[in-house]
Amino acid sequence: MDEREFECYMKAGEIAAKVRRYVEQSVKPGEKLIDIANRVEDFIRSFGAEPAFPLNISINDVAAHYTPLPNDPSVLPPNSVVKIDIGVHVEGYIADTAVTLCFNDKYVTLVEATREALERAIQRVAPGIRFSEIGKIVEEVLRSYGYRPIYNLSGHSLGRYLIHAGETIPNFRDVRIFGRFRDGNAYAIEPFATNGCGFVIEGSTVPIYALKPNPKKVRDLGSEARKVFETVYNHRRTLPFALRWYLTKFDLDTLVKALNEMKRLGLVVEYPILVERSGGVVAQFEHTVVIYRGKVYVTTVGGG
Ligand code: MN
Ligand code: MN
Repeated sequence: MDEREFECYMKAGEIAAKVRRYVEQSVKPGEKLIDIANRVEDFIRSFGAEPAFPLNISINDVAAHYTPLPNDPSVLPPNSVVKIDIGVHVEGYIADTAVTLCFNDKYVTLVEATREALERAIQRVAPGIRFSEIGKIVEEVLRSYGYRPIYNLSGHSLGRYLIHAGETIPNFRDVRIFGRFRDGNAYAIEPFATNGCGFVIEGSTVPIYALKPNPKKVRDLGSEARKVFETVYNHRRTLPFALRWYLTKFDLDTLVKALNEMKRLGLVVEYPILVERSGGVVAQFEHTVVIYRGKVYVTTVGGG
C-alpha cells in the first residue's frame, strides 16, 4: 500500500463514519425503507464519494443483504432491531461499517454485547495476529452474555473495487483459518450475534446484484439488455448494485428482462437476503481497519 492508497482508505473511512452518525441520529421507525436508503446514499454522494454497495437495511431476523426493491412499500416497523450496513468508496478504496439500531428494550443486551465484541476484537488487531484469534474473542464475548455468533457470516479482507478480497475473518475460533493480519492490507471486522441458532440461510428475495463481466457472453445479449449491462458496468464495474438505482434511465420491465438475460448468460451474481435459520434476532457492528507501516488504523471510527 502506498501513501495515496492509504489516504483514499482514510478518506472513505471518515465519510463512512459521518454517514453512520447521520444514520444513528436520523433513522426512526415509521419511515419508508426506500426513503431511508435514498437519503443516506445521497448523503454519501454529497461528499463526492459513492456507495460501495447499496445501503443494507436488515430488520430483526434478516441478518444482511436487504436493500429496498424498486417501488418498495415497506416501512421500518416499530420495536425492530435494524442493521444498517454502509459502504463508501473513494476511487475504489472501500470503507465498510455497520451499526445496529435498537428500537426494542428486549434486545438492548444483544446489541450492546455485539458492540463490545467488535471493540474487543479490534483492540487485538496487529500484524501477525491470526484471524481465528479475532473469532475467538468475538465468540467469547457473545457467549458471556448468553448469545451466539452467526457462524456462517464473517469479516473479510478488502481490495480496490473488491468488497471480499479473499481472506475471511471468522466470528468464532475457526481452526480451518490460518490467515494472519499483514501490513499494507485493509480488513472489515464484523461480528453478528443472535439469540437464535447462529446460522443464516438464503431467503428468496434478491435485492442486490453484481456484474460478472465476460466480453464473449456480453455479445450474446440483446440490444436493450446490452445497454443496461453497459450502463451498470460503467457506473459500478463489479461492485454491487440495486435495480432501484437505474429506474431513471430504464423502466422496471426493461431492467428485469435485461437482468434475466444476464442471469442466463452468467453475467450477474445474485445476493439473496440472509435470514437467521431459527428466526432469531440478529445484531451486527462493523468497522474497517487498515494496517499501514506497522500501525493499525480504524478508518471508520470517525471523530477526526
Ligand atoms: Mn458491511
Ligand atoms: Mn463487510
